[in-house]
Amino acid sequence: MARHAIATDQVDSIDDLAEQRKRQMLTSVINATGVLLHTNLGRAPLSFSQTASYSNLELNVETGQRGSRQQTIGSLLATACGAEAAIVVNNCASAVLLTLAALGAGRGVAVSRGEMVEIGGGFRIPDVMRQSGARLVEVGTTNRSRLSDYTSAADAEKEAGKELAMVLKVHRSNYKVIGFTEEAPIAELATVGVPVVVDLGSGLLDAACPWLDGVPPSWLSEEPAVRQTLDGGADLVMFSGDKLFGGPQAGIIAGRADLVERCAKHPLARAVRPGSLVMAAVGETTLAYLERRGADIPFWAMVSTTVETLTARAEAIAAEVPGAKVIGTEAVPGGGTLPTVTFPSAGLRVGRDVTTALRAAARPIIARVEEGGTTLDLRTVHPDDDPMIAAGLRSALAPPDPENT
Ligand SMILES: *Cc1c(COP(=O)(O)O)cnc(C)c1O
Repeated sequence: MARHAIATDQVDSIDDLAEQRKRQMLTSVINATGVLLHTNLGRAPLSFSQTASYSNLELNVETGQRGSRQQTIGSLLATACGAEAAIVVNNCASAVLLTLAALGAGRGVAVSRGEMVEIGGGFRIPDVMRQSGARLVEVGTTNRSRLSDYTSAADAEKEAGKELAMVLKVHRSNYKVIGFTEEAPIAELATVGVPVVVDLGSGLLDAACPWLDGVPPSWLSEEPAVRQTLDGGADLVMFSGDKLFGGPQAGIIAGRADLVERCAKHPLARAVRPGSLVMAAVGETTLAYLERRGADIPFWAMVSTTVETLTARAEAIAAEVPGAKVIGTEAVPGGGTLPTVTFPSAGLRVGRDVTTALRAAARPIIARVEEGGTTLDLRTVHPDDDPMIAAGLRSALAPPDPENT
C-alpha cells in the first residue's frame, strides 16, 4: 500500500477539485476582445500541435553527437534578422538582463533620460541595470538627447580612467514623446566608439514585411525593425518572441557574433534558457518568416484580415443569433506595443452584459463590456472558432431554464 494512497471516500471531492482547478489551468480560450497581443491571454496567439514524444533538443540528428539547442534555431533566427548570430532566452526582460550582465557588469552603460522606461510588470530599465551589475550613466534629457550627450558621457568615463561598456537604446514601446523632441539615430550612436545595443522590445523583424503580400502596412511606419536597426549600425538587438514577432514567450538576442557568444557563455544564460516547447515554437515561427508564410503566423494572419471578411463572418454569426447585431469596431495591437495604433475591425454586439456567461463556455470566450452591452471583435478570433462564438452567444442569451433554477 503506497504511503500516499487516497481513501476512497476522498475521491469524489478530489474529482470535484480537479474539475474546478481544470478551468483555472492553462487552457485554450477564444479572444473576442480585439486586442491582438492581449497580455492576460498570452500575447501572440500560438498554433502548434503537440504529440507525446522526445525531441532532438540537444542532439544533432545527422551526426548523432550532442548538439546545442541554440545552434540550429539561432542560425535560422540570425538569417531572419540579418545578423551574424542569435540566441533565444526566456523573454526580452531576460535578454536585457543577460546582455547587461555579460557586456556591462562593473562598467558604465549610457542610456538617454528619455528612455529610462517601465515596460509593465515592474520591468524598469534602471532597476534591471542595477541587478545586472552595470552602472547606469544617464545622458541627455527626457525629451531631447543628442549625439554630443553620448560622446560627453564617453569622454567623462575616459577622464575617470574608465570606459563605457556600451550605449543602450531602449524602444519606448508603450508611450510616445511628442513635441519638442530629439534623439540620436543609431547610425550616429555607432560613432561613439562603443557597442550600440538596442532593446527593441516589440520585435518587428523587417520594416519591408516580406512575409506579407503587398506593401508594408502603414501602421508600422514608425515602428523600428530588427533588420534595419542592425543594418543602421547597432551591434546587438534584443526583442520579445510574443509581441510583433508573433511567437511564444521568448527573448531573442541577435547581432555581432562575438557579443552574442559572450552572452551565451555568461553563467546567467543557463538560468534564462528556454525549454524544448519554446525552442520548437520559435523555430517554427522563424521558418514561416524565412519562407515568407506570414499567413501561417497567427498574429500576422489576424492583423491582415480585411474588414470585409470580418464583416461577412459577423453577418454569418448574427444570422444564427437572435438579438446580435453586426457592428464596426476598433481593434488594437496591445501587449505594450504601438500605443496610438488602431485597426478598423468588425464584430457583434448584444444589448446585455453576457461576459460572465461567455467566460463559462466550454472554451471560455473573452469579450468586452461596453455601455452595458457586450462587444465581440472578430479580428482576434480564428475563423474556425466562429461556430463557437455563435453557440456561446446563443446559450448566453437564452432565457434561464426553469428546470435548473
Ligand atoms: C516588452 C518589452 C520588454 C520586456 O519584454 P518581455 O518579453 O515581456 O520580457 C523589454 N523591453 C522593451 C523595450 C519592451 O517593449
